[in-house]
Amino acid sequence: MKTDIQIAQEATMLPITEIAEQVGLTPDDLEMYGKYKAKLSDECMERLAKEEDGKLVLVTAINPTPAGEGKTTTSVGLGQAFAKLGKKAVLALREPSLGPCFGIKGGAAGGGYAQVVPMEDLNLHFTGDFHAITSANNLLAALLDNHIQQGNELGIDPRQIKWKRCLDMNDRVLRNIVVGLGSKMDGMVREDHFVITVASEIMAILCLSDDMADLKRRLGRIIVAYNFKGEPVTAADLQAVGSMAALLKDALKPNMIQTLEHTPALVHGGPFANIAHGCNSVRATKMALKMGDICVTEAGFGADLGAEKFFDIKSRMAGLHPDAVVLVATIRALKYNGGVAKDALSEENMDALKKGIVNLEKHIENLQKFDVPVVVTLNSFITDTEEETAFVRDFCEKRGCAFALSEVWEKGGQGGVALAETILDVLDHKESHFAPIYPSEMSLKDKIATIAKEIYGAADVSYAPAAEKELAHITELGMGDFPVCMAKTQYSLSDDAKKLGRPEGFTLNVREVYASAGAGFVVVVTGAIMTMPGLPKKPAAFGIDVSDDGVITGLF
Ligand code: ADP
Ligand code: MG
Repeated sequence: MKTDIQIAQEATMLPITEIAEQVGLTPDDLEMYGKYKAKLSDECMERLAKEEDGKLVLVTAINPTPAGEGKTTTSVGLGQAFAKLGKKAVLALREPSLGPCFGIKGGAAGGGYAQVVPMEDLNLHFTGDFHAITSANNLLAALLDNHIQQGNELGIDPRQIKWKRCLDMNDRVLRNIVVGLGSKMDGMVREDHFVITVASEIMAILCLSDDMADLKRRLGRIIVAYNFKGEPVTAADLQAVGSMAALLKDALKPNMIQTLEHTPALVHGGPFANIAHGCNSVRATKMALKMGDICVTEAGFGADLGAEKFFDIKSRMAGLHPDAVVLVATIRALKYNGGVAKDALSEENMDALKKGIVNLEKHIENLQKFDVPVVVTLNSFITDTEEETAFVRDFCEKRGCAFALSEVWEKGGQGGVALAETILDVLDHKESHFAPIYPSEMSLKDKIATIAKEIYGAADVSYAPAAEKELAHITELGMGDFPVCMAKTQYSLSDDAKKLGRPEGFTLNVREVYASAGAGFVVVVTGAIMTMPGLPKKPAAFGIDVSDDGVITGLF
């Protein structure tokens, strides 16, 4: 069997100008990054803003196995399938993080015959957006430490510095460090931390910003530290906004590439789906809606995190109106939720499937709470048996839920035609009355309780004393009307990765709370959330290489 990278390298790409032409763009609308990648120019975006919106389809998933269940693969295949049906579909996807490519996860450009290309570029440096974000983040850190060194006029309390440095690499030794060692001239000694670039608040800000003015407003609001009086010190106080925005000028423009079957794809921004909202940029989604009949977009992790944040954070802030949601399930993940060990998921096991399907049931019920029509798709693996597939189909149909098998990994767009037809039917016949699950005016604690009980199935929420105090503090600072951004494990509906299936009666434990004031949400941390990953004993990096003539191998 061919690997993803082999399939991607065998593809014949069209010049990106030809891809753009399909959706009415001219070479003038593009800022070229070589032959196969381009950014949309400001003029292009201004012109498109006047166009009518197409339909918005969100792709999300049940709680996954550690290998991922194929949301990106399904999204890409679906874009290809719509094109087969003569529909103008445009994808809006996240840019993958560089660091994890060298760890265990591998690339993130879809898989099999449903990928976006050039996949090596996308997975490595792409158009430099992450470099720009890293630089803006670290400029703010440098200005902060310099401010303290130069006399600390703002009275920044070095014990209450919140801003962290960042790097797009899995590098655990940078999680907790000491900076400023040396002499008086080398700065103030203090404890510091690195996060991976996708966990930087600047990433979340870039992805939620409407335009340059909005970007600057949000950058200015970032709380970098507190002063000795306990008041917030912002990036605007440090006079950092203009220079950070200048670094981000091009990163703010959506990137266009193509699928293996030449469907246009806007791939832009990629915030973490735990401490941030986990969706591609608002600008990419809005432009995709303007360019095509249908925009297919993906949200990170399972629907309890990804879809909830897509609805309650991104759609609320950007005024988006999702028309349908595709819930990806796999037989593997259903069996995993039914208690089967990771290494036995390829064997038929009807008992485990019947036990684990409660996870799918809960996600269907959850999505219906947002009043958006749901289509369930089974991302088909060659190890799935007929009996297993029939059981899932039957389960959905008995609940009046639209269902289609997806074989896009194996067959590309052709393998997604049944799913695309089902979605078109739903778009034609079922209306979306989308509404977030809680109003902005609700108190932060009630928002957390609503998500915990309605979405996760918790009986109760408990707070560590510091979290309780910080919620009151954030409200006092005037951020009580922000949406909440839940950070928890993606493997369970609860905050305990081992509670599989459909856990009930549990207490959600809130460990920490903080405001991402620039992004405009309050992060609610449950469990231990890693914002700087490490590498495994045998990192994927060992298998990556480039030949003398420049061909990259081993990138999955
Ligand atoms: P997600 O977006 O949900 O994290 P991806 O679409 O990135 O998942 O898929 C994760 C991995 O699983 C990729 O390496 C992809 O090639 C592989 N994969 C996805 N669907 C299938 C399938 N139907 N059969 C085999 N491998 C698959
Ligand atoms: Mg993905």
